[in-house]
Amino acid sequence: MNSKDLQTIRELLSTPKKIAIVPHKNPDGDAIGAALALWHYLNNSGHQPEVISPNDYPKFLKWMPGTEQVVIFEKQGDMARDFLSAADLVFTVDFNQLARTGAMQESLLSSRARFLMIDHHQQPDGFAQLVYSDPEMSSTCEMVYKVLEGLGGLDAISPEIANCLYAGILTDTGSFKYSATSSNTHRVVANLIDRGAQNTEIHRKIFDTNTPERLQLLGIALRNMVVLKPYRTAYTSLRQEDLDACRYQKGDTEGFVNYGLSLEGIRFAAIFIENREEGIIKISFRSKGDFSVNNFARNHYSGGGHINAAGGRSRESMEDTLTRFESLLKSYKKTLNA
Ligand code: 5GP
Ligand code: MN
Repeated sequence: MNSKDLQTIRELLSTPKKIAIVPHKNPDGDAIGAALALWHYLNNSGHQPEVISPNDYPKFLKWMPGTEQVVIFEKQGDMARDFLSAADLVFTVDFNQLARTGAMQESLLSSRARFLMIDHHQQPDGFAQLVYSDPEMSSTCEMVYKVLEGLGGLDAISPEIANCLYAGILTDTGSFKYSATSSNTHRVVANLIDRGAQNTEIHRKIFDTNTPERLQLLGIALRNMVVLKPYRTAYTSLRQEDLDACRYQKGDTEGFVNYGLSLEGIRFAAIFIENREEGIIKISFRSKGDFSVNNFARNHYSGGGHINAAGGRSRESMEDTLTRFESLLKSYKKTLNA
């Protein structure tokens, strides 16, 4: 964040403000971690912040300090709308298009607050007056760290904030292995540990939360995997019946898509997950190297994300969706083998 924007934020925060902090729908560790870290900072600085999430998030993130404060728009709509209509500022974290907030979008569009975006996705829309966007960053949490450091120095990072930011960086970098993980990411993480992030505990709380049902669901996903060597692609799918049989809970399929990418020689992986209630197939794409799943998701699945991790949806049946996906691959054969 440049010093002029930091100065603008400093001025905006020089008097107590009512501030909404909004992550994207189906928030992940980075979105919730960034939102709660900001909440703690603003709360510690005498403001009246409220994290308003479009919908609920997985249990493996609910240990984060401040999680009990989060207002869920889908469940507490009136409270959320009242807060939004009276808010002076809205921080949006970890998304680049207002549509990523789902049904909450309308309340945001009608708000008179000033919007500040902190995000690392490519091609941000212009809905915010103040934009801190950097697609080279590992995570939104790393960016929030920079903002807080710029505003208040390392003293601004309390142990609660350190734990939230560590969790977001950890999850968005695939435990510090994705290519956006820089030496600076490691420096930030080192400082977070010095400021009280309980790194070993956080790993345990996030990754050692399997249930037998989740492992069974993973078994189904692995059995359903289709490997298309000529396209260096592996994809899998889960039907509503599979989810029901394994008593699916939010977050259970997190990380499944990565198994395809762990196959030798595979550069492109996808998982198709049926959501009968919403009438969609939710899709996650992952890649290695130059193949941009952000472009792929934008061009064919009304989605987006990053070069190597993106998502989208299909409104066709599972069968038609998979058939179309396979035939789409033909036009990408050269790129996938480059
Ligand atoms: P996931 O596959 O884990 O849901 O998402 C991977 C990345 O793509 C995340 O950074 C997420 O924010 C982004 N993403 C997922 N679904 C969508 C979508 O429908 N639209 C856009 N623009 N981004 C998405
Ligand atoms: Mn993120």
